[in-house]
Amino acid sequence: MGCFREFCCGLIRVVRWIPVVFVSSVIVWASYAYLYELCFVHLFIERSAPVKAGLYAVFFVILMFLFVTSYARTIFTPVGMPPRKFYFTRECLDEIKAATDETAVQMIINRFVHLQGIPVRNRNYDGGFRYCNKCHCVKPDRAHHCSVCGHCVLKFDHHCPWVNTCVNFYNYKFFILFLGYGFVLCCFGMATNLETVINFFDMSPTKTLASIQLGILFLLSAVFSISLAALFFYHLYLIARNRTTFESFRAPLLENGREDKHFFNLGIRRNYREIFGPSLLHWFLPTYSSLGEGCVYPERSQREVFPVSWSSNSVVSRRSTEAVVLNSKVELASAETLNGHVV
Ligand SMILES: [Zn+2]
Ligand SMILES: [Zn+2]
Repeated sequence: MGCFREFCCGLIRVVRWIPVVFVSSVIVWASYAYLYELCFVHLFIERSAPVKAGLYAVFFVILMFLFVTSYARTIFTPVGMPPRKFYFTRECLDEIKAATDETAVQMIINRFVHLQGIPVRNRNYDGGFRYCNKCHCVKPDRAHHCSVCGHCVLKFDHHCPWVNTCVNFYNYKFFILFLGYGFVLCCFGMATNLETVINFFDMSPTKTLASIQLGILFLLSAVFSISLAALFFYHLYLIARNRTTFESFRAPLLENGREDKHFFNLGIRRNYREIFGPSLLHWFLPTYSSLGEGCVYPERSQREVFPVSWSSNSVVSRRSTEAVVLNSKVELASAETLNGHVV
């Protein structure tokens, strides 16, 4: 039974690489079709246009290099996991297992968080600390458990099958560059291949294999450019708001149980610097330049998060109100427990 289970797990791991193998195969074939069939055979030999062929080839190679490097770094950059101090100690875990209800669990976690000095601002819907039952850890801000990777992931964006890994704090910049360069490459390929494709339809019924390949290359470029553009511009919008894909569906929650989708929004310029770094030169290179360490994130000032008018007059959901009450109870009870343990 154990062997069968291992076999199935291994098989699933192999199957997950199929989209990556597919994309890699398309990249290899597209490079061959563009560089050999279009630049060398069609432009250089048949049309005797060496300058045009050379320029097309050079730009294509540069774009392809940036695209492939970004893609590879998205795939192979290790997924960010919470640091050791976020994981429960043996004693803490035993206490949690022995706890009878969620309030007791929250009291134990509250004590653990204070003793370890763990910086967390995000909370559950009930106002309690976010923790992972599977990893046995307190979840850092913006971290979520990925069921595919099987562990908690820092600044979880989404699990992408096309890169067979989580898009997260450490590879987000590479993922954006992968989308961006992919889109530019497709547009460049379409623009420079357009003339050949038009001739392809004008030519006699006896099509050569090369012209058919260039026609397919044009169609593939068109299809990929549309899907890449949709994702790329959507993520540019998310970066401008300092939001992950996950947070665009579920806004971060704070100590008082209140949702705040602008909690990490520092303004467009600073939001982009968070991902791409302070130096504009590094923005376009597939080198790591994101700011921070994946657990603590700058947030808007306290005054912006809790505007004066919010405290008494604005509409507060019933769920939020209950969360505040529950959290207050937990804080109070934990403070008492803390006194008992520390003093
Ligand atoms: Zn987890
Ligand atoms: Zn994942």
